Amino acid sequence: MWSSIDKTVVEELSSIVGEDQVVFGVGRVEGYLLDETPLPIRPEPCRDVVVVKPASTEEVSAILRLAYRSKIPVFPRGGGTGLVGGCIPTRSGIILCLERMNKVTVDVDNMMAEAEAGATLHDLIEAADRSDLFFPPHPGDEYAQIGGLIACNAGGARAVRTGVMRNYVRGIEAVLPTGDVLRLGGKLIKDNTGYDLMQLIIGSEGTLAIITKAFIRLYPKLPFSITMIIPFDSRSAALKTVPRILRTGIMPLAVEYVERIPIEVSAARLGLEWPCKEGEAFLIIILAEQDEEYLYRVCEKLLDVCVESGSLEPLVAERRDEQDRILRIRSEIYTALKPSMVDILDVTVPPASIGLLMDKIDEISRSYNTYLPAYGHAGDGNIHVHIMREEGWDTAIYDEIRDKVYSVTLELGGVITGEHGIGFVRRRSLLRFSHPIYIDLMKKVKQIFDPNNILNPDKLLP
Ligand SMILES: Cc1cc2nc3c(=O)[nH]c(=O)nc-3n(C[C@H](O)[C@H](O)[C@H](O)COP(=O)(O)OP(=O)(O)OC[C@H]3O[C@@H](n4cnc5c(N)ncnc54)[C@H](O)[C@@H]3O)c2cc1C
Repeated sequence: MWSSIDKTVVEELSSIVGEDQVVFGVGRVEGYLLDETPLPIRPEPCRDVVVVKPASTEEVSAILRLAYRSKIPVFPRGGGTGLVGGCIPTRSGIILCLERMNKVTVDVDNMMAEAEAGATLHDLIEAADRSDLFFPPHPGDEYAQIGGLIACNAGGARAVRTGVMRNYVRGIEAVLPTGDVLRLGGKLIKDNTGYDLMQLIIGSEGTLAIITKAFIRLYPKLPFSITMIIPFDSRSAALKTVPRILRTGIMPLAVEYVERIPIEVSAARLGLEWPCKEGEAFLIIILAEQDEEYLYRVCEKLLDVCVESGSLEPLVAERRDEQDRILRIRSEIYTALKPSMVDILDVTVPPASIGLLMDKIDEISRSYNTYLPAYGHAGDGNIHVHIMREEGWDTAIYDEIRDKVYSVTLELGGVITGEHGIGFVRRRSLLRFSHPIYIDLMKKVKQIFDPNNILNPDKLLP
């Protein structure tokens, strides 16, 4: 029951992908309308949509040709794990769902995966593992799809050592809003052929092109690992230890920051217990290496640095099940806090400024007499500060706090988002905290790629 897209368009879509791969009507499209954005800031989805599930790049191209000709908005959808409303349809149009395009093959000699856009992060990790290889970053929820991870240039806990999605993507196949297919890069380590349009499409949040396939670099496995929990008395003490750790030259796989209240809520949700009894703020340091002896040597060195920096008694997990339990509790924090959360911020500062940022956030918390729980990827300066619901507060107060956190972040040379992107919910902030020339250039780029503004309208650009 929808009106804006006429019957002939539905018939044409059905002739491209098959009738059973076109979904519309109240009650049938509900599962395709949302993502993981907290409810108070999530945009209200438009239900006047048709979901289309292509099985090939040719089908994606035919759908876009039709949409371009008829000026129908197209909303690309991956795993729906985004945190900024990026895949939520905000107008009547087509939801392009890539889930059927989910093949992953591995070229062992070139150490490269060839992954279709609808394959999940989990599929990629498994395919690499079956070939005795390793996809080093862990850039998001494992239900996220390759297309979504690339479109968001997702980051994750291991970025401190391994970099982010764009450091692994060596080639993409993408369909332009006109329906033309573009192939960029390949199984290549070097490619210096003109403007790097591939890197422009990576992180473009579905506004410039539909990613249909990618070549992704893999690495040898790191068979030995240790996970340490380092407790501290205060947020500031924990975070100010991070630059000292990084200056040792040892490169942990992850340096995560968590705090007692959220981590205990998360553990309780899983029916588990947070194993550290002392301390209010914690660094979770993961070390992973090829060589076991080296692993233990660097572990000892890092423990010394932490103790010298004022840590309380560290906890060292060596068994796989102990390490997995700690990471499960860490991974569940967002879901545990979500029901009482207004927003999850994603600010990033130069790594050495993360302690200073936390001091400023503490000042903001005190001035509003509230608690702003924080956790995140301390090793790369990317921290998720949460604005929680408070009795009697209205949107204006939440906006004020958000703007204050953004202002102190920018003063420290940071940016408003390090990995989640702009999507729908950060457009006003992008405009407020960016130079007008930058915004103007982005609008011109969008105009070149998508003159009819059909691809993910209302996203990224103010
Ligand atoms: C519990 C949890 C943990 C998370 N941890 C992290 C983390 O550590 N690091 C991190 O960076 N993010 C994290 N995220 C956020 C999320 O997983 C990432 O943003 C991920 O990249 C979203 O991928 P998706 O497939 O779910 O995309 P969706 O949410 O479906 O879409 C995201 C954006 O990508 C676009 N898009 C999707 N597919 C395509 C395509 N094929 N072509 C073009 N555009 C496309 C959409 O239009 C939208 O703009 C987390 C989320 C959750 C819920």
